[in-house]
Amino acid sequence: MSDTFQQALHATLPMLQKIQQGIKPAPKGSTAALKKLCEAARANPPKPRMPRSPTTLAEDPGSPPAPASGKWTMASLRKAVLACEKCPHLVRSRTQVVFGLGNPEADLMFVGEAPGADEDEQGEPFVGKAGQLLTKIIQAMGFERSDIYIANVLKCRPDMPAGESGNRKPKPAEMATCLPWLGEQIELVRPKVIVALGATATEGLLGDTSPMRDLRGRWLEFRGTPVMVTYHPAYLLRNQSLPEKRKVWEDMLLALEKLGKRITPKQRAFFTKAAA
Ligand code: URA
Repeated sequence: MSDTFQQALHATLPMLQKIQQGIKPAPKGSTAALKKLCEAARANPPKPRMPRSPTTLAEDPGSPPAPASGKWTMASLRKAVLACEKCPHLVRSRTQVVFGLGNPEADLMFVGEAPGADEDEQGEPFVGKAGQLLTKIIQAMGFERSDIYIANVLKCRPDMPAGESGNRKPKPAEMATCLPWLGEQIELVRPKVIVALGATATEGLLGDTSPMRDLRGRWLEFRGTPVMVTYHPAYLLRNQSLPEKRKVWEDMLLALEKLGKRITPKQRAFFTKAAA
């Protein structure tokens, strides 16, 4: 007997009993059939339902379940991430999940913190103002966006308190919950270099909360992949001085060197006083 039928049967048991006891008029039809139903309902109480354990953010940061084949493909991972409901508050507020985009065989991968309003609307990472600046940085490095891979630590736009607009930083627990997805993405792309954009992305990716001045400009590591931390493009939009731009550019030069890319003298001089 199916679960649903059993439950329906059981729900009607009090009514059937009342009919049997003559408290309620029996509907047209055989009372013998009703008696049988009553007996069936008593004999087959519904199976107790396994309570669905509520997964809190902090409790569920483990690896995402591997697909039946045992191996993710980018397509199966994307499907799973788009259906993810680990953070009910973000599921409620998001327009869509922003999975990530680019060359699945890229040597270079950029990792941001979380989608903003534009990304939430369009379903692509870094498409707003900060994204446009990131595209310029990528092009100055001699790449197109389609050459590299871009993803965020958190795949859903952080929700905002009612009545407030703008963006908020993802919380450590939200990033910890989502990190396994990024881990699988990195595993699939296997980039030679990861560039982490900003302190929040670095905290989410590496768990390192050091100030940016201590993080950038040197090689760190995520599960064996070299990571260069640099300022988030949104920071550069707020601080457009030549020295700040140069700092980011020096980090990108280090990334290019690590990738074994030829760097032109013109590229070397970008954002120096001599070039300005
Ligand atoms: N900032 C990020 O960190 N990620 C985006 O996708 C957009 C803005």
